[in-house]
Amino acid sequence: MNCPKTKLISAYLDNEMRLREKTSFEAHLQDCAQCGAALGEMRSLRAAFADADRHQAPYGFAARVMAQTEALERKKSPWFVPLFIRFAEVAVLLLVITVGILAGKVMTNGRSTVNTENIASSLSLDLFDATPPGSLGGAYLAMTEVSNEK
Ligand SMILES: [Zn+2]
Repeated sequence: MNCPKTKLISAYLDNEMRLREKTSFEAHLQDCAQCGAALGEMRSLRAAFADADRHQAPYGFAARVMAQTEALERKKSPWFVPLFIRFAEVAVLLLVITVGILAGKVMTNGRSTVNTENIASSLSLDLFDATPPGSLGGAYLAMTEVSNEK
């Protein structure tokens, strides 16, 4: 059976636990053989890494790695490809706009003169009839006209 608390061993060894977590995990370690074994393994592994010799990287190693990385990226994408893609995007956009304008002209052809006449007549107030006497609107207008005269 796998104990889910074995994940906590690394945090325990790095001293990243709160006091309450730490004491409860230490109590768990007393009872759980799996966590105890994993803790022992992790400790010996860390000790082996701590004892290992450290080697200095050769002079200019980082600069050579970065230069090779840049060369590989340049080979992967030549400079003219992004520019070509830009031109293609602009061309498609212009084509869509032109087709839209032409389609709009074709669809509204011949109708536009009639429409302007309708719009002009609808904007004038000639459409409204006088308010019939005795109606609510007529009473309101009569009241406002009286108050305006004073
Ligand atoms: Zn456990």
